[in-house]
Amino acid sequence: MKNVSIVGSGPAGFYTAYRLLKKAVEPLSVKIWEKRPIPFGLSRFGVAPDHPEVKNCEETFTSIFTETLSNGHKVQFLGDVEIGNGGVKLMDLLSKEDVVVLSYGCSDDRRLHIPGEANASGVFTSREFVNWYNGDLNMSQPDSKLNQFDWNKVKNVGIIGNGNVALDITRVLISNKIKEIWDPTDISVMALEKLRKAPIENIKIIGRRDFVHSKFTNKELRELWELEKFGIHGKIDSKYFDPEQLLQQFGKNRPLKRRIEMCMEYLKPFEKRSPKYKKFEQFAGLVDTPSWELDYLKTPVRINSDIETGAIKSLTLHGNKISEENRLTNDGTEYTYNIDLLIESLGYKGKPLQEFDELGIKFNDHVSTNAKGQVLTMSDAIVPRLYATGWIRTGSKGVIAATMQDAFTVADSVLNEVSATNANLGGFNTQDIPHTTWSDWEKINLSEISKGAVLKKSRLKYLSYAEMLRCLD
Ligand code: FAD
Repeated sequence: MKNVSIVGSGPAGFYTAYRLLKKAVEPLSVKIWEKRPIPFGLSRFGVAPDHPEVKNCEETFTSIFTETLSNGHKVQFLGDVEIGNGGVKLMDLLSKEDVVVLSYGCSDDRRLHIPGEANASGVFTSREFVNWYNGDLNMSQPDSKLNQFDWNKVKNVGIIGNGNVALDITRVLISNKIKEIWDPTDISVMALEKLRKAPIENIKIIGRRDFVHSKFTNKELRELWELEKFGIHGKIDSKYFDPEQLLQQFGKNRPLKRRIEMCMEYLKPFEKRSPKYKKFEQFAGLVDTPSWELDYLKTPVRINSDIETGAIKSLTLHGNKISEENRLTNDGTEYTYNIDLLIESLGYKGKPLQEFDELGIKFNDHVSTNAKGQVLTMSDAIVPRLYATGWIRTGSKGVIAATMQDAFTVADSVLNEVSATNANLGGFNTQDIPHTTWSDWEKINLSEISKGAVLKKSRLKYLSYAEMLRCLD
């Protein structure tokens, strides 16, 4: 039996395993290694809790333990084991497994690297914030910096970056008090309780470029506009949004045209909108409700914090202009925004494993590979029997569907390699490696779901390892 080890149990790892087990003609043993005690990576710890349909992929992942084994394959989940970095050595896996696939995602942050950033409290990365509200164990410790942060004082928020993650974060921050949206979800109850203390008035979503360069998708933007039915409204300063001129220039680009029209309609008073944009009843509450704002053409230059407490007080930015050649330059203007919380949503970064140096692997925010997913060295030679897929191969871009496609491509290359070789390295012996198993996860999963059901939630996530272990007794 040939042996394949997969490092990381997020969508890339699971879709690789799924494809291998569906298509392999000879019996295969697949090991899925995961540094956390439980599976699914960003499907559990990244995707927003109010988007449960996105997590349906977990049913497919689970199916590999129940459905694909009839043809003599073997599959094992080894949770709570880190590969490299002091855990099981990548070299040891490579010496015993016929192929190793790296699918360990991106677990570092892109930062602004501006003065004041390192010392100010109230400055978080999107990864920290998202992991926290999704109940990741590290961020959920009572002494974690997000739990220690004083949410009672948060009125004005700045979010740097304007991709879908920035919009997820805006939605969570601005609408968390709306029980009908959040109470049924699996959001961390600890985070939700703290978030609800924040008297948020305004959130600025700040981009370096202009409206047409926004990276978010129309679906996510529409969700924000539609919060208006709960009295939450959106704004865009007219100097960054001239719909007539934009439609004239970009009217042939259909998604962009729809985005321009959507914003144009929602910026009108309710009664003047076309019917498509008033499918919900006009909110009849207070006028003084929280707002979010798309803010453009600004680059952060300095974080200013209180000398005594270290708490962030404001953010200084310079204005930008875009040249005809699409180059961004400082336009000489300066702005200072008073803010109590800053979230840097600049994308995730991959981390090299310690052993990459020894293997001479080329790494720049992510692993370098060829089109088949074979990992490359600095001199572009192939590292034998080592593949990569998902965000650690592509960088932190792409939704789960794109990650799946990538995993399928790489799994097909792995199958070619496995079937072309007669050698069989015997497989890595997992007997002496303490780990959580798939059956442990099934117990944790059932327990979370049944505890959630009592509270009319999709699940009640365990927020500490000790709690998880208790339900295994
Ligand atoms: P990951 O999901 O990060 O999985 C990597 C796994 O490897 C993790 O479980 C990690 O713990 C493990 N690992 C790391 N290091 C090691 C190690 N050394 N040893 C063992 N295991 C290790 N896509 C959508 O389609 N819809 C959405 O709504 C959506 N929302 C998103 C929201 C956020 C905030 C983010 C960040 C992404 C979102 N995405 C969404 C994108 C989607 O999450 C990614 O496409 C996908 O998760 C990438 O999968 P991956 O397996 O490469 O990485």
